[in-house]
Amino acid sequence: ALMITDECINCDVCEPVCPNQAIAMGAEIYEIDPAKCTECVGHFDEPQCVSLCPVACIPVNPAHVEDRETLLQKYQRLAVTS
Ligand code: SF4
Ligand code: SF4
Repeated sequence: ALMITDECINCDVCEPVCPNQAIAMGAEIYEIDPAKCTECVGHFDEPQCVSLCPVACIPVNPAHVEDRETLLQKYQRLAVTS
């Protein structure tokens, strides 16, 4: 899963483009729910939030490093429950 750092300027661009509704406004900046972020695996070739973020503040979450297979399994779980 990816994460949003405190460099976020709350530009509102990433939230609507997330195919998993993983991005939401937190207490001060936008936040990514690691349980929902598949790094866009299953939907797009590139993480949509990263490709649009104007300040490049969306790195991999070091607490949630996942390989492609794990991300694909998450995508499939989310597809079943939604
Ligand atoms: Fe959503 Fe994709 Fe960004 Fe994860 S990488 S938060 S799934 S847009
Ligand atoms: Fe923050 Fe980047 Fe999302 Fe804009 S696109 S709200 S700067 S994380």
